[in-house]
Amino acid sequence: MSLFILLNFIYIFDLKNQKERSGFLLLLTNGTVITHDEDNRVIKNGAVLIEREEIKALGESELLKSKYPEAEVKDVQGKIIMPGMINTHMHIYSTFARGMDLKTEQPPRHFLEILEKMWWRVDSSLKADDIYYSALYAFLTGLKQGVTSVFDHHASYGQVSYSLDLVAKAVEELGIRADLCYEISDRNGPEQSQAAVKESKNFLKKIREKNSNYLNSRIGLHASFTLEDETLAEVSELADDLDSSFHIHVAEGRTDLEDSRLRGYNGAVKRLDQYNIWRPGTIAVHGVHLQEGELEILRDNDCYLINNPESNMGNAVGAAPLKEALAKGLKVGLGTDGYTTDMFESIKFANLMLKHQNSDPRPGWTEIPQMVFKTNAKLASQSFGTQLGVLKEGAAADIIVVDYSPPTEINSDNTYAHILFGINGGMVETTIVNGKILMENREVQVVDDQKITHETREQADDFWSRF
Ligand SMILES: [Zn+2]
Repeated sequence: MSLFILLNFIYIFDLKNQKERSGFLLLLTNGTVITHDEDNRVIKNGAVLIEREEIKALGESELLKSKYPEAEVKDVQGKIIMPGMINTHMHIYSTFARGMDLKTEQPPRHFLEILEKMWWRVDSSLKADDIYYSALYAFLTGLKQGVTSVFDHHASYGQVSYSLDLVAKAVEELGIRADLCYEISDRNGPEQSQAAVKESKNFLKKIREKNSNYLNSRIGLHASFTLEDETLAEVSELADDLDSSFHIHVAEGRTDLEDSRLRGYNGAVKRLDQYNIWRPGTIAVHGVHLQEGELEILRDNDCYLINNPESNMGNAVGAAPLKEALAKGLKVGLGTDGYTTDMFESIKFANLMLKHQNSDPRPGWTEIPQMVFKTNAKLASQSFGTQLGVLKEGAAADIIVVDYSPPTEINSDNTYAHILFGINGGMVETTIVNGKILMENREVQVVDDQKITHETREQADDFWSRF
């Protein structure tokens, strides 16, 4: 029985049914706690007390141990305790593309050909089982690297209906948080476009009924250059009806700009503005080829601009005007765009790219931590309705433990330098989401890691034979 059929009988199970830890207290002790709070407080020999889904207290280890003797103690042995990482732009559907033969005589020469020869072919070949395993493997890899919340932008024109349910099934099995959408596009004709609109609408309604703090959805759009005016008008109305914002690529390559000019607009942001795509909470991804006045449109409509430096470099599309965007007061976040699942890796690239594009070694020290630790946290907190990206009383218990023994002191003024130069996702040892331990001492607790890897490989072989 395929997963697609299975899902018609079993709708994604609810985490609430899992082991309820009513009144249960877990105390992480003996760590260096990086809080990412307003004062960027660092607590040495610190502890974090978790009660059910929330952080109940932070402080010195001995103090909290004596105050809460009933708590179960997990001694992290001097490691780093910090908030889980948040990825604000991801494509789980890219999993099977790794190392794949594109079966094309000429490798892609530019961004549009990368889409045509690779990504659009991948997504058009994805069937139900491919979608499920792509999601499960990608989210699991992220979880192991300390990523606790993901904003995914999904495309699978080989199987549109119920595709978001399959992605959600993977999310729920792992216990992470995810904001999901389907990328509506007219690139495969009106029938497929309508199927994508329907999938977005159906899934969004289900999510609204579910009203959880770990799954959310919004309307996904590919990009201006693959969307016709009628579709934009339709999704705008749908967003009004369902009170949704959007998640869309904008001005990533020059194609988006040139297409907008052919349609009579000097820029994709300006064209999309005519259809009220820019509304509070809308996630605009890339923004490399923005024109005069377009940063202001995004800012004035309370949107987020998400930077994906590795992807931009890999596709050779250019660099987004981050300094200008931040100077104008636009909310700028950081994502991986499917290039990696490791947010620590993206931090390193964001730092290098910002310095390189400005021919100036000074920028990055305030801009990148603002993006990855403040703005990503703000977007995730807004999406899931709970305080994320910070360790403080009352915030959600999304916490990671990192096996990092620094050669120099960590203090409130230099946590970012330690993260930038000293930490990568492979050093994450324990991942906790919503108070639940998903990985402990590098052992995934919620699923059989090796079994999933094995099954994903088998599914990938099958996918490659069909590609
Ligand atoms: Zn993307």
